[in-house]
Amino acid sequence: MQWKDVSQKEVLRYLGYGRQEADEAVKNLVSECIGEILNQCHCKHVYKRFHCTIEQHSIMFENVVIESKNLSKNLSECEQMILFAATLGPQPDILLKKYSRLDMSKAVVMQAAAAAIIEEYCDQCQKQIEKELEQEQLYLRPRFSPGYGDFQLKHQKDMILLLDCPRKIGLTLTDSLLLAPSKSVTAVMGISKKNKHCHIKGCEACENRNCTFRRDG
Ligand code: SF4
Repeated sequence: MQWKDVSQKEVLRYLGYGRQEADEAVKNLVSECIGEILNQCHCKHVYKRFHCTIEQHSIMFENVVIESKNLSKNLSECEQMILFAATLGPQPDILLKKYSRLDMSKAVVMQAAAAAIIEEYCDQCQKQIEKELEQEQLYLRPRFSPGYGDFQLKHQKDMILLLDCPRKIGLTLTDSLLLAPSKSVTAVMGISKKNKHCHIKGCEACENRNCTFRRDG
């Protein structure tokens, strides 16, 4: 991933600058942090396709059952889904730890930059998967990560196991269900026969207000 791919605006948004304009010093610090973190990233991802059955609030695939009203709504009418995981690798964590000792304000900006980078990386991976599926006239629903709504974090265990994450991308889960490296994402994406032109940033950013698959509705 390149520097130009990461939006300075997105990092500022994570830092709480909404409509308020950041001054030049903050903007320069953001640019510096994006560059420094990117230099340390070894981005990797893995994904796998599964047949799934959705019944009321249950999603069933392989030998796994996920109980989630939000996720089952988002996956309704999907006969297949993708399990996805991505990581920036262990180096950004080492850098973040270093700055939390040396310079707390820079560490905060670094955290925001790392969050924007992993999101951008996931978006790029997702676009690639979308392209592959379009050849089969299949379409992706948005990324839906454990911890969002009523999709419980404990399901990361099955996801990490089924994707063979430790071996394939060096991603593991701690006993307290935290991803290690910390700048990592796991997600489910529905595969649909209907093209709903889903927004890459998910239902929250999507203008399709009447969508029946909207996860927050
Ligand atoms: S609300 Fe938008 S992003 Fe969400 S499922 Fe519907 S079309 Fe897709």
